[in-house]
Amino acid sequence: MFKLSKIRLLSFLISLLLFTVNSQGRTIVHAGYLIDGVGDEARKKVTIVIEGDRIAEVASGYLPIGEGDELIDLKNRTVMPGLMDMHVHLYLEISRRTYIDRFTIDAADYAFKSVKYAERTLMAGFTTVRNPGDVYNVTISLRNAINKGLVIGPRIFSAGKGIGTTGGHADPSNGLNDLLTYDAGPVGGVVNGPDEARKAVRQRYKNGADFIKITATGGVLSLAKSGQNPQFTMPELEAIVETAKDYGFTVAVHAHGTEGMKRAVLAGVDSIEHGTYMTAEVMELMKERGTYYVPTISAGMWVGEKAKEDGFFPEIVRVKAAAIGPVISDTFAKAYKAGVKIAFGTDTGVSAHGDNANEFIYMADGGMPPMEAIKSATMEGAKLLKQEKELGSVEAGKYADLVAVSGNPLEDIELMTKVNFVMKAGVVYKNE
Ligand SMILES: [Zn+2]
Repeated sequence: MFKLSKIRLLSFLISLLLFTVNSQGRTIVHAGYLIDGVGDEARKKVTIVIEGDRIAEVASGYLPIGEGDELIDLKNRTVMPGLMDMHVHLYLEISRRTYIDRFTIDAADYAFKSVKYAERTLMAGFTTVRNPGDVYNVTISLRNAINKGLVIGPRIFSAGKGIGTTGGHADPSNGLNDLLTYDAGPVGGVVNGPDEARKAVRQRYKNGADFIKITATGGVLSLAKSGQNPQFTMPELEAIVETAKDYGFTVAVHAHGTEGMKRAVLAGVDSIEHGTYMTAEVMELMKERGTYYVPTISAGMWVGEKAKEDGFFPEIVRVKAAAIGPVISDTFAKAYKAGVKIAFGTDTGVSAHGDNANEFIYMADGGMPPMEAIKSATMEGAKLLKQEKELGSVEAGKYADLVAVSGNPLEDIELMTKVNFVMKAGVVYKNE
């Protein structure tokens, strides 16, 4: 008698436990096709079980839903991991006004704009972004606001203010007259010599950045003559990389010119962004060292086009935009063929926020098959961020970041620009 009641009590407790799990509300997704971010082919008829913000199970066939479960029917769509863009600038969008705005726009103005841009990015299917460089650490605050649920946007990994050298691409006082010019110093992202380089990295740790961004060569949009000269010495680069490692930071490197790019790779950085004049020698070095390439073809195409518009850029910028812009797509094609590791990145903020997925089309034009382009925008991004245990694929244990399109993106890559379902951390933001 006593024994029986003990068993009853136990079964009551078990059913109570099961009820509690159920009432927390599992979300069941029935996916017509699933590109999971790791497999080489799309899987047909798959059920994804979501508990809270994580994926609990991925099963073949359409599993029945239990009591209290919520069903999301995506039987006529292709489901993929949330997309990841490794190069966006959420604080601005380049326009004819940009070179005037820098004298009139305050931190709060940038912040309000960034809220709108973040929402557009998420709605385009990009559930995670890496923001290499901003002003006033706006995207660190934006990241925190999104994490607290105050505003809607992607999961952000931010470098805060990028680091350059005096007169370099990330020097914020480039092009200013004698009355307005200043030395931003390591706090403001201008370093000269290894000690200042270390200080700048430590300052970013203090600011709450997630990784380090440096500008190893000249750039297109800064008010300076060269878009490709090397702008860091080897000892400066080594100081950056060494200090970054102490704080668990990866180092992302803006580079167009060959020499600066080569130095950065030799110093042991994690990624080369843009990579315009990447030679076969640099590609080999990158393969040897496992350095990622983040192509940003979108930015190349965009500045190349705008360089043709009368008066869009100041003349010193226009010349660089016309020369460098159109080269990036060729570099991408060569680097892909050579077998360099590629993580999807657009430099959006140059082009318009929300248009990130155009990069898929450019990548396909450059010879990358759709499946590989999708992986570069999911699992490869996660690896570059060292978040491959949390993000980048549809597998049990990972964050429930899912997107979907109607139709088959492996046959028509343009569908990536028409994402009609977005879930981030188990929350649905779009389902059309
Ligand atoms: Zn950039």
